[in-house]
Amino acid sequence: MITYVKDNFGREITYLRISVTQRCNLNCVYCGKEDCAKKAEELLPEEYYKIAKAFAKCGIKKVRITGGEPLVRFDIAEIVRLIRSIPEIETVALTTNGVYLKKYAKELKTAGLDSVNISLDSTDGSTYRHLTGADVLQRVMEGIDEAENAELTPIKLNAVLMKGVNSDGAGELIKLAKERKIDVRFIELMPFSNEGEDADLLVTGDEILEEFQFLEYTKSEGTAKYYAAEGFMGRVGLISPVTHKFCNECNRVRLLCDGKVKPCLGYDAAYDILPFINDEEKLVSEIEKIILKKPAGHNFEKGNTTHGLNRTGG
Ligand code: SAM
Repeated sequence: MITYVKDNFGREITYLRISVTQRCNLNCVYCGKEDCAKKAEELLPEEYYKIAKAFAKCGIKKVRITGGEPLVRFDIAEIVRLIRSIPEIETVALTTNGVYLKKYAKELKTAGLDSVNISLDSTDGSTYRHLTGADVLQRVMEGIDEAENAELTPIKLNAVLMKGVNSDGAGELIKLAKERKIDVRFIELMPFSNEGEDADLLVTGDEILEEFQFLEYTKSEGTAKYYAAEGFMGRVGLISPVTHKFCNECNRVRLLCDGKVKPCLGYDAAYDILPFINDEEKLVSEIEKIILKKPAGHNFEKGNTTHGLNRTGG
């Protein structure tokens, strides 16, 4: 039996993000500066399955697999297949930097993956290299093509703009939404330090609308507001966690790669449920307790950090 679990603020929790690794093959400038090569404990596919099954009993209907970079795991398709086999889970999506997507797109589709979000902060080779530390833009573009071929749709590209770094490339990214049936979404830079430099780099959703005045609001889906324009095949999305907080509508929790559950991205607090992995009833009751600990909202706007968004799962 499914119990739809509400948190203390009446929000129904239906969306689980699972970070399957802390490892990443890129080193994006805004993602913190911890050692990417450091290997944290990662659960086996069957362990994520058992935990996701318990979450499904608590009302989770959508799972997004993320990281670190989820495609650095050789068993990623098996993780997708197992989670997709849970009847209550209606959608399984994945967020990736796209570097290994050409290799995995078809296998992931066969495993039951519904859609992918691909991070792409610039279409310019040298800016991309500067932002990620790797000369792999071409591979990512081929990964996007392959995701389209495999019908991992809707394909969404996620870009984080930073003033004076890649903000002048916004028009080129928007062009992708014009020419292809792809949604290009701009996510506001969430702070990664307390020193305030991120505030100077922030490009807000409102600034993007000011610059690209031909964009017309169509609808909101989850955390994104979507805009269309004449002759566009895809859409432009704005996700503004810093300037337009959407915590009152937050329906998600995050499972970290080592079996801890984080009720909110904005805080360090994470609760270990691995000890209960072989007792579904106990897992369900622990999950319910954790959901009740979900805070009212993040406080990024006060300069609070993302507390290792990349390393513990984006
Ligand atoms: N490696 C995968 C990828 O690159 O998509 C998944 C993890 S990554 C942390 C998930 C998303 O979080 C990416 O789209 C990335 O751009 C975004 N992200 C990371 N740090 C961010 C920050 N400080 N502010 C806003 N978005 C951020």
